[in-house]
Amino acid sequence: MRERGIISKELLDSFELQGINRRDFLKYCAATAALFGLSELEVTTKLAYALEPTSKKPPVLWLEGLACAGCTISLAQSLYPPVASLILDKISLRSHWTLMAGAGEVAEDVLNATIKQGGYILIFEGAIPSADDRFWTHAGATGRHHFEEAAKKATSVIAVGACSAYGGIPRATPSKGISVSEALKNAKIKKPVINISTCPVHPDHLVGTILYVLMTGKIPELDSNGRPAMYFGDNRLLHDNCRRRAHFDAGEFLNDWNDPKQKDWCLFQKGCKGPLVHIDCAIRRWNDGINFCLDCGGLCQACGDPGFYDKMTPLYTAESEASRRIWAMREAGQFSRDES
Ligand code: SF4
Ligand code: SF4
Ligand code: SF4
Repeated sequence: MRERGIISKELLDSFELQGINRRDFLKYCAATAALFGLSELEVTTKLAYALEPTSKKPPVLWLEGLACAGCTISLAQSLYPPVASLILDKISLRSHWTLMAGAGEVAEDVLNATIKQGGYILIFEGAIPSADDRFWTHAGATGRHHFEEAAKKATSVIAVGACSAYGGIPRATPSKGISVSEALKNAKIKKPVINISTCPVHPDHLVGTILYVLMTGKIPELDSNGRPAMYFGDNRLLHDNCRRRAHFDAGEFLNDWNDPKQKDWCLFQKGCKGPLVHIDCAIRRWNDGINFCLDCGGLCQACGDPGFYDKMTPLYTAESEASRRIWAMREAGQFSRDES
């Protein structure tokens, strides 16, 4: 009962309005505490404080560059569990071109006023064209200009999705899309960047990262590719958590989808890049924990890694540069497991 007194009656009432009970909230705090490396009490206290109706909402700007809006859709469609939606409710999303009701001058005025005020978190979805600015224009100016102006006054930038984190699919197109970090470097703008890759972004990764920043005022520990280590760290090799792994070790590779005997075999020959990928997909799964690529007969395309998409193609055979690297590593015994 340590949480008694931490969660105010007003906050409990607002939970109730959104169909969240106290037990759900505490469960979420416990899971989050383990992930953030903080105590349960600390998370409960800080989260309850951040969610108090009277607490100041940190402003957030969401801009879209060369994007398909899939990351927005991924987030918008998974506003369950309700605790996540409550957290998103608590941020003051000043501008989001796909979700906002306002348009035209009204929307532009809000955007410009927020940029003028500064001090917001900039969430950026999509890549920035490097071949020609005309690949992305907005409201009479280049998209690059809008991005740079918004980035200059932001406290930090969250690069959402593979396109924004590393260039993703737009990098392989004539626009030669580049990442947020590259665009900032080209413009000589220094800002902390958090890459939350995958195509589309995983809603838990984004909500958890926003929550961390909201609660601690700091950016989370990042891995060598600038991604939150709590979701993408070196100890999160997808291959190690895959239920098909024993078949990889035994050299049993699926090559015929119609052969029932092969149904659970390793998907390496069908293009799986899991042995190179550090991410928690196999544990967290997708769609509120229902399933993920490898358990529904798909394969891992390394959509969260730098090099996606161009270095991972062809996607559905083992002929890519990445697949050749995996095979060489296997031959060199790098995936051997200690039997003792
Ligand atoms: S990362 Fe994928 S889903 Fe997100 S904007 Fe880029 S292509 Fe679309
Ligand atoms: S190669 Fe892919 S399917 Fe095979 S064990 Fe590794 S992650 Fe699983
Ligand atoms: S399993 Fe691989 S392809 Fe699927 S979401 Fe995770 S990183 Fe992306």
